[in-house]
Amino acid sequence: MNNDLKPRALAVLRRFYGYDSFYPLQFEAIQCVMQGNDAVVLMPTGGGKSLCFQIPALLSDGCTIVISPLLALMKDQVDALQAMGIPAASVNSSQTDGYNREVIEQVYAGRIKLLYISPERLLAEVEQWSSMIKISLFAIDEAHCISQWGHDFRPEYTQLASLRQRFPGVPIMALTATADRLTRDDIASQLNIPDARLFMTSFDRPNIALNVVSNVSGNDKLKIITRFIDSHKGESGIIYSLRRADTEKMASRLQSLGYNAAAFHAGMPTPGKEQVQTAFLNDDIAIVCATIAFGMGINKSNVRWVIHSNMPKNIECYYQEIGRAGRDGMPATALMFYSFADVITLRSFAQNSGLASVNMNKLQRIQQYAESDVCRRRTLLSYFNERYEHDCGNCDVCLNPPERFDATVLCQMALSAIVRTGGKEGVSAIIDILRGSAKTDIVAKGYNTLRTYGVGRDLSFPAWNAYMLQMLQMGIIDVAYDDYNHLRVTAYGWEILKGTRQVMLSKFSYSGRQATADAKEKKPRQGQLQNMPPADKELFERLKETRLAIARAQRVAPYIVFSDKVLDVIARYRPTTREEFSGLYGVGEKKTEMYWRPFTSAVRAYLETHSGK
Ligand code: ADP
Ligand code: ZN
Repeated sequence: MNNDLKPRALAVLRRFYGYDSFYPLQFEAIQCVMQGNDAVVLMPTGGGKSLCFQIPALLSDGCTIVISPLLALMKDQVDALQAMGIPAASVNSSQTDGYNREVIEQVYAGRIKLLYISPERLLAEVEQWSSMIKISLFAIDEAHCISQWGHDFRPEYTQLASLRQRFPGVPIMALTATADRLTRDDIASQLNIPDARLFMTSFDRPNIALNVVSNVSGNDKLKIITRFIDSHKGESGIIYSLRRADTEKMASRLQSLGYNAAAFHAGMPTPGKEQVQTAFLNDDIAIVCATIAFGMGINKSNVRWVIHSNMPKNIECYYQEIGRAGRDGMPATALMFYSFADVITLRSFAQNSGLASVNMNKLQRIQQYAESDVCRRRTLLSYFNERYEHDCGNCDVCLNPPERFDATVLCQMALSAIVRTGGKEGVSAIIDILRGSAKTDIVAKGYNTLRTYGVGRDLSFPAWNAYMLQMLQMGIIDVAYDDYNHLRVTAYGWEILKGTRQVMLSKFSYSGRQATADAKEKKPRQGQLQNMPPADKELFERLKETRLAIARAQRVAPYIVFSDKVLDVIARYRPTTREEFSGLYGVGEKKTEMYWRPFTSAVRAYLETHSGK
């Protein structure tokens, strides 16, 4: 049977999904479970994990049971499958008992190929109906939830450990996008599937442009953010902040400037949160200002950018959060702000956490990332122990390499000011002294009589802030977290002060390197996409309107109708007939039938008004 597996799998891929080839390791994972073996699939967000169990479900007799931790995720996948004409359903607590019973009846009747269910519900009910149906596969989505090491541990997932014993003949596939090594290694052992084969692809997300901006004041940050949003008109994005209050402040400031934004954090009442989430998925709200509470369950494929208005606490969190952008493989942008104040806040979080030394270490690694003057993607992937041996060309460092200069004298000025205040001041006061500020506080303490007063007035406050941050990062100065965040000079700092060591720093440039990098068109993954004319922006926007109208009428999220990538293909190929439409990337049988009319008429209308193009 397995000899002809590949052509059968490809036929299903074309017919339902409208794709012509597999992503790396998809077919291998499919083959593994089709041969009755267990599998662990580790792929980044957007890597195409869902197909790894959906295609076996379509190729096998019986029903595949998909275990998923969140209602939102189940709904999203079931909607997406149904839109492709694949019989999928879920039983869950948001549906009436009557409806859930009906679903089970359908499963008994062999009419459902994929059944989505939560772990607790599965284990409570499976004995009742397992004798009535043939289970072809258990797919455990978000499998990292089983590990206590991870950030999403869910106690109910631990019950899944009994599946292997209870269903010896049914293969198990565990899937996750977690990049956290401890967690990954834990999954197979927690699930009791020691013989599972591992399918792990690169965790690189080449379509996400990486940018870091350091040390800008609150007002400038807002300016950079609004400029950024303006240059991404009509796109969806997420702005993460550390504190709940900041998400609300950000949302209301953006709203007052006319942007379509809303706040989301764990302190909000559930209906309010659900409303924001749904509106975002449906493209009714373009921008969500959120704490990290917003994320899991956001399967929206057309999130085009993610901004961190504060530095996140470690690289794992950062990578997961930026990973919510560009799931469809189209260009996306990550922009992170990084400041002295963030470092101080995060250090105190880390120090007061149960695992101070581990968390301090992790914090240091993300600081290194933020300060890095080598390709950011290299820094990230090396953190995840992945080999990546070239510069990416899609990060701010690659596009605008930082300039280094001899900063010995500059450091000496700052160090001297710190010493002369007796180690009794924090970073703002030190900068005020250096810049010769006439603030009453500075004058009242007599700092205006210090020899260092005003020696650094040539540099702006943000520039000083950036240099002090680099000095902190390099261990030239230290912050006394237990003593009002006062600055201290380290032994290394003293050597510089005495003139026995030199220091190089990266030049601060406010508008130069920062936030200029943006998504460059990356080589598309699908062969079909190459050598095509570029998409016309206006046509793309019109197709988005067509998509939105269909989505509203059918009460599904727009990206369920088509991803941005498919719209891009339509905008390039400009199909005007059913025939032309049906062969396109991402357009399977069912979607051809459902959508060829509205999309080809949108194309025709566009061509009529643009004859000659
Ligand atoms: P994950 O679950 O790993 O985040 P998905 O399964 O949601 O990823 O896939 C991400 C996107 O890539 C989806 O839009 C999906 O339809 C698309 N995709 C998956 N496999 C392929 C493929 N072989 N060819 C083209 N597109 C694919
Ligand atoms: Zn790079």
